[in-house]
Amino acid sequence: MTGRVVLGALGEVLEALASSRGEEVVGLLVGRVEGDRVVVNYLYHASNIKHSIVEFEADPWHVVQAHVSADKYKLEVVGIYHSHPSCPPAPSHLDVEGMKKWPIVWVIACPHETSAWILRDNKLARLEVVPGEPKEKS
Ligand code: ZN
Repeated sequence: MTGRVVLGALGEVLEALASSRGEEVVGLLVGRVEGDRVVVNYLYHASNIKHSIVEFEADPWHVVQAHVSADKYKLEVVGIYHSHPSCPPAPSHLDVEGMKKWPIVWVIACPHETSAWILRDNKLARLEVVPGEPKEKS
């Protein structure tokens, strides 16, 4: 399925979030799946109830609200994002365990880099992060 994640300017927003907070930030990516692309329309921020610099747990209430919000706009929760304030934006052992429970796209942001991952057949696959929608040729 998904080979690319279209983040647009949200990639910069995530990198700014990653550098602005000491603890990991977390939230949901709301958008739609189009063929092999995941197009992200907006970020739904959740509180990190662990308040940790090395791990996160999204406030369950915010996760529910993200789904309510997505439904309202006829979109879906297509992924999870969180930050690694001290890089690199590669899944930790804990992240891979989380990906087994939540087998959707995982976007990890560092202050200067954003990456996207998915677990397929129990193997980690890195997805291409596309900064914007390709321009239509006229
Ligand atoms: Zn992580």
